[in-house]
Amino acid sequence: MPQTRIAVLGAGGLGKAAATIIGMKSELQLTAICDSRGIVASEAGLEPSAVAGIAGDLVSGYRAASASRVAAAGASSVATATDVEAEHCVDPIGEILSRRALYDSVLVALPNLPNEFIPGVIRRFAEADASLVFVDVLKRTRAVSQLFELDALVQQARSVVLTGCGATPGMLAAAAVLAAQSFIEVEKVEIRWGVGIANWEAYKATIREDIAHLPGYSVERAHAMSDTDVDALLDKTDGILELNQMEHADDILLQRAGVIDRLDQVEVGGVMDTRRAKKPVSTTMTLTGKTFEGKRSSHRFVLGDETTMAANVIGPALGYLKRGLWLKERGIFGIFGSTEFLPMVVK
Ligand code: NAD
Repeated sequence: MPQTRIAVLGAGGLGKAAATIIGMKSELQLTAICDSRGIVASEAGLEPSAVAGIAGDLVSGYRAASASRVAAAGASSVATATDVEAEHCVDPIGEILSRRALYDSVLVALPNLPNEFIPGVIRRFAEADASLVFVDVLKRTRAVSQLFELDALVQQARSVVLTGCGATPGMLAAAAVLAAQSFIEVEKVEIRWGVGIANWEAYKATIREDIAHLPGYSVERAHAMSDTDVDALLDKTDGILELNQMEHADDILLQRAGVIDRLDQVEVGGVMDTRRAKKPVSTTMTLTGKTFEGKRSSHRFVLGDETTMAANVIGPALGYLKRGLWLKERGIFGIFGSTEFLPMVVK
């Protein structure tokens, strides 16, 4: 079976985790990746472990990793290393787009600050008439709503976009769709997530987007914060961010699938520890409803405490990417949420 060629947009915490996991899957091949300063691409495929180990900027890091591999392997590897384009540029998304013959699918691991940033990237690809499968891990309700407005454009480009395909929304929202099946009426869906990361700088966008949910903050204010501002805020709470009543797209995605009628029936909150890798609390999805016999009960889905944010976001995203390829093969195009299809399992 031919491998599916993937471009990853964003090479931060989740982009690098994606490269590592793609490297462990025989069905997938990483052929392009970018960060805000440049792109690395190769028709022959990139070395996922070289991407995963980069500390600073992607292009310099990839060049250095390739040079040391070539030195270690001797002259025979030089041809492989020079097949790779690793270039700094001002418009990495545009450069990836112009190399669209190199990949069949795109995993979007970009920050979504401001809210319209990722919908704007999808619009750009659709307007260029690139027929591809996209999967994103968007979180905000307003961002996912904006994306759905592009459905006709995406259909015209004969593309498939699966949105909100991380952990929440993503795996936990999909679990709620399954849980709802036991009930004649769903009353509430409560998602409480726990994430522990040893160093916030490995996941800058995730942390800024979480800060935007704190009382008194907004997407715009979090976007404008310098790293020093973020450090100062985290210092006040020993690195802990506790978030309640988050604006998470689990609500519109569950409404779309018919699980709930009103958005306020979904409540999302969580605790992020930005200084310790151990999860501060377990991640749970609890759906409460009434059965046809009139009994009230709850189903609960609990993630294993040893599973990291990266495992629970990128695993589902790649599973949904495979579902997106399945849809495209069948001639079904447009934008769908993570609650509308089950993810598949990528080997
Ligand atoms: P990060 O800050 O670590 O990395 C972002 C990457 O995008 C960096 O490599 C940066 O250089 C690159 N980038 C920024 N602007 C760019 C541009 N204009 N062109 C090209 N590249 C650009 O981010 P992260 O912590 O890995 O998070 C990525 C996204 O994942 C965030 O939007 C976050 O909200 C989302 N996320 C979703 C879930 C979920 O469960 N759904 C969980 C965690 C994170």
